[in-house]
Amino acid sequence: MTMLETSSTIQLFEEHVEDSYASFNMVRRWKEELGRKALGYFPVYFPEELAHALNMLPINLLGASGRLPLDIATAHTQSFVCSITKSVFQLAAQDILEMFDVLVFSNICDVARNLSGIMRRNFGAKYHIEYIHYPINNTSAHAVGYLEEEYRRVIGGLERVSGIKMRDEALRDAIGLYNRKRELMNRLAELRSEKPWLLPYTEYYTAIRAGEFMPVERFNQAMESFLREVESRTTRPADRVRVIVKGDFCEQPPLMYMKTIEDAGCYIVGDEALIGPRWIGEINAHADNPIRALAKAYVMNTTPLTVRYHPSIDKRKHIIELVKDMNAEGVIFITPKFCEPALYDYIIYKTALDKAGIPYLHLEYEESTSSFEHVRTMVETFAESIMFD
Ligand code: SF4
Repeated sequence: MTMLETSSTIQLFEEHVEDSYASFNMVRRWKEELGRKALGYFPVYFPEELAHALNMLPINLLGASGRLPLDIATAHTQSFVCSITKSVFQLAAQDILEMFDVLVFSNICDVARNLSGIMRRNFGAKYHIEYIHYPINNTSAHAVGYLEEEYRRVIGGLERVSGIKMRDEALRDAIGLYNRKRELMNRLAELRSEKPWLLPYTEYYTAIRAGEFMPVERFNQAMESFLREVESRTTRPADRVRVIVKGDFCEQPPLMYMKTIEDAGCYIVGDEALIGPRWIGEINAHADNPIRALAKAYVMNTTPLTVRYHPSIDKRKHIIELVKDMNAEGVIFITPKFCEPALYDYIIYKTALDKAGIPYLHLEYEESTSSFEHVRTMVETFAESIMFD
């Protein structure tokens, strides 16, 4: 692929994001063009390198973003679960995931864990379903060894689907490619944090979300082009309040929801949208045992992630440092309805913010939220209270 023009780059990102809502035709196209199988994984984190090294396209299953009625899923799940679990079930029930060769779930929370069982029971004959049980006690001396074995078990299942054996060299190459992807995504996030006026949130989000649906080589190339273009912009800053948004690490809020926050007088200088794929950071791409390197990167990581418990992480300290590092003036918590992990974190963070006298606001959302007036009103009031304090 030749270097992309900017307009075609953002258009390419938009096409992939639009397609991911309820069709996945692009996945079908990439499969045919590259001769790969497709692996869909439920957020928040999956070592995408494993799929790539086995000639599979890893795709983050982010639900249908309010584009489908959830009638079939509602009949199979409790009323008090988050929308993304229902939405992924609905996609499978309507055969919209039929081009996926493997679906992977994990123990990020009770709801996701149960979803894997419900999916297996209802669609086990149609899809190859894998489950990763990440370690709970990440300070145990056995955690790395345990996760390495867990990855090897999952690799066995993926090898049966892909028809090829895992090679260390292929996995090292994949780690190198995904290290680059994480570096580029983090660079875009940093740029947005430093100069949010150069990059509207909608563009930022579209770019990083496209990374969840494009082949990594194509995405890296497109992102390099996009970064160059954003860095060359000369937009002037506006008078807005710098806020950090927390809570969008798994189920995704409607893009209009986030746009409303910005339009109500804020610059979102930090958020958790699609944090899973970049949270792991740089992994040793030259390790003798690359599977162990992936396991080690997960277990040893001391960057907070809501769905992963690590006793050495002090979340109270983290939120205060984050506000300081991002030069933020407030925090907006947006929690998916019925998401217990997000609510638990909210309680911890709010206690620390109260003590430090840092303003915050708490809002809820669902995938299908379509009215944003109350968001606008609450955020406008919040932003004005900071501006005129
Ligand atoms: S949105 Fe929250 S409750 Fe739902 S699957 Fe994700 S982490 Fe679990």
